[in-house]
Amino acid sequence: MDPAGTGAAPTGTDARGSGPRLVVVSAHAADFVWRAGGAIARCAAEGGAVTVLCLSFGERGESAALWRDEGATLESVKAARAEEAAAAAETLGARIEFFDAGDYPLRPTVELEDALVARFRALAPTLLLTHAERDPYNLDHALTHELVLRARMIAQAHGLPDRSTPVLGATQVMAFEPHQPEQCGFVPDNLLDITAVFDRKQAAMKCMDGAQGHLVSYYEDLARRRGVQAVRNGAPRSVTHAEAFQQVFPHVGGIW
Ligand SMILES: [Zn+2]
Repeated sequence: MDPAGTGAAPTGTDARGSGPRLVVVSAHAADFVWRAGGAIARCAAEGGAVTVLCLSFGERGESAALWRDEGATLESVKAARAEEAAAAAETLGARIEFFDAGDYPLRPTVELEDALVARFRALAPTLLLTHAERDPYNLDHALTHELVLRARMIAQAHGLPDRSTPVLGATQVMAFEPHQPEQCGFVPDNLLDITAVFDRKQAAMKCMDGAQGHLVSYYEDLARRRGVQAVRNGAPRSVTHAEAFQQVFPHVGGIW
């Protein structure tokens, strides 16, 4: 499977700067915007390189508004979602690559797994963001979490047939907030201040107006609520908006 992006998908080891390299794996076309748009915009604004790997367009399961058009076809819906997602990624300052692997259900093929491994090795992320481990409402999301962990594990192996890219290190994986966090067992251990870039996140969310515009106000409210919690947990009072994350692997470092 060849991922197709808003530019040609690079091969081999991508050019690397010295800043953070954030890779966001999104099951569907808009997930990365609602749940991690602030993190993406902040990382990019601080000089990081951000790549969104979008496994499907959410064409079947997360595009109900577009299917109300009687002339809609699978191809027309996919094209509309790709256009929205590309505009949102550009607004946030990220590159995006589309894998077109299908949704509802997303199927964990060998080709998809191999493609993710290749991209992880080439992009060498310093942090991976993806869906939470559980999501009883949306098994595509939970499957994406597992796919990311599998691809990360395989990308760390020294004996892969393709040895043209370096082995992946111990990259942290963090889950972004699911739509209904309690049912997903999501307990945040990081509240990221996105106040300075919230206008970018709002602009990116508005790119999704055609298919999922009804979610914009919900995620504006959520960011405000997480911002209040960030202040309650020690952030300066100037913090008004935040996003919640839960890390998979232990933090390594000092504890005082
Ligand atoms: Zn989704």
